[in-house]
Amino acid sequence: MSVTLTDQLTREEIVAAYTEMLGSDRVITDEQVLKENSVDRYYKVENIFGVYSLPLPAAVLKPASTEDVAKILSFANEHLINVVPKTGGSATEGGLETVIENSIVVDGSTMNKIIDINIEDMLATVQCGVGLEQLENELREIGYTTGHSPQSKPLAQFGGLVATRSIGQFSTLYGGIEDMVVGLETVFPNGEICRIKNVPRRAAGPDIRHIVIGNEGALTYITEVTVKIFRYYPENNKFYGYLLNDIKTGLQILREVVTQGYRPSVARLYDKEDGLYHFKHFSDGRCVLIFVAEGPERIAQATGTAIEEIVASFDGVERVDGALIEDWFNHLNWDVSKLEEERIEIRETLVNGFTTEISGNWSVIGDIYENALTRIRAEIPAQFTMLGGHSSHSYLNGTNMYFVYYYKIDVDPTDERTTYHDPIQNIIVEETLKLGGSMCHHHGVGKHRTHFLAEEYGSSLSMLETLKSAFDPNGIMNRGTIFPLEK
Ligand SMILES: Cc1cc2nc3c(=O)[nH]c(=O)nc-3n(C[C@H](O)[C@H](O)[C@H](O)COP(=O)(O)OP(=O)(O)OC[C@H]3O[C@@H](n4cnc5c(N)ncnc54)[C@H](O)[C@@H]3O)c2cc1C
Repeated sequence: MSVTLTDQLTREEIVAAYTEMLGSDRVITDEQVLKENSVDRYYKVENIFGVYSLPLPAAVLKPASTEDVAKILSFANEHLINVVPKTGGSATEGGLETVIENSIVVDGSTMNKIIDINIEDMLATVQCGVGLEQLENELREIGYTTGHSPQSKPLAQFGGLVATRSIGQFSTLYGGIEDMVVGLETVFPNGEICRIKNVPRRAAGPDIRHIVIGNEGALTYITEVTVKIFRYYPENNKFYGYLLNDIKTGLQILREVVTQGYRPSVARLYDKEDGLYHFKHFSDGRCVLIFVAEGPERIAQATGTAIEEIVASFDGVERVDGALIEDWFNHLNWDVSKLEEERIEIRETLVNGFTTEISGNWSVIGDIYENALTRIRAEIPAQFTMLGGHSSHSYLNGTNMYFVYYYKIDVDPTDERTTYHDPIQNIIVEETLKLGGSMCHHHGVGKHRTHFLAEEYGSSLSMLETLKSAFDPNGIMNRGTIFPLEK
């Protein structure tokens, strides 16, 4: 897919203008860098097989400050240059794809200062390019934590974490990033810099943070973020693991724990297939249910005791040694150092894995899970080596389902997405929307789910579209992301 947004400036003119503005060391035009910046999808065919079919950006720009971002955006706005914001580069849904000719990628990873850690007010303020791991390590050394722990923690940075409405493994206790952001600074396409101040709560009109959180770079460029920090009590962590025969019982247990008012930091349920994938040394072909209780000693203890009692009230559930869960948990995060090794393995075996995450209320999530898997098995002729899923984030009203599918790429790698990934994702989203769930739980709409946007939003779509036309009237921000390209 390739669309020309403007023929007003040539590629060379865009590069020359930004070089004059920022200096040549902040304007990257190396061809390999441009190729790698034309896609996201770390595990997807482009980066694994080196086949890049999208238009290459004109340049990757590395702003040093909020003022640089403001200058970059207002020039792009004036000349209708498509802007793709980027920080950690771990997006999975096409949010970083440069589908417009002569786009610029604005890579904020060089804006990487921890600006302030304020213990009295329990706040940390960082520039958009600060890695979550960088802040988290610094906080843990002094006895605090962000409470945020997506699997991509070694790579993801604050701009992207906020822009995608990311969520981490301890979400049942700490919430998603939307529960953590207190204030922020952001730059609009016209160059206007806006700061939302840090207060514990306010009732002065709508909560405008939510215009920015989850915008996926399609409305505004996030330059600074202030998040809550929490006291860190790892010595009190308690790990629980159980085996059970069916996913519906597991969902009932999750529901019982959260609706009784308990907040384990981790509450995860793996189906049989995903259970075998993650816990083959002990899952025994059964579903695996996991909890972690944490916090001050008395709260962790009470939460742990309640989990044990609730689980014991269900038949057919077997407890496993909590040390197995602790060990698994310590190795759950993505190991970036193994990335190249994994790519080599995929090239050799041609087996690759993908995910689609959705959410639904308790009353429908089990049916969404069953209906989607039944249809995928019946309709998709892929050679699956694994097809299953897990629930990893539970709420008072429902939970998410994270479908995982590994299959052999038995077609030309450039056709892999359209032959398999898109049809599988479409089935999952269709079955979710049919029962009133949401098509994305935490990876964002990106460019790969925009065709479902109208159905996802229903009569509230006009509210979302009004934000786009108000904040990005020239349509220069990450075209084709969240909002379908045709618009
Ligand atoms: C192995 C792996 C595991 C993952 N696990 C999780 C998980 O557990 N939970 C989860 O929520 N996600 C997960 N993700 C998805 C992804 O890591 C997250 O969405 C993450 O928040 C993206 O952060 P980033 O800095 O890498 O953003 P990027 O990939 O750079 O960008 C993501 C999106 O945000 C936009 N963006 C980036 N920076 C800015 C900015 N400064 N201003 C405005 N827009 C911006 C981009 O245009 C893009 O649309 C995972 C991804 C991988 C590859």
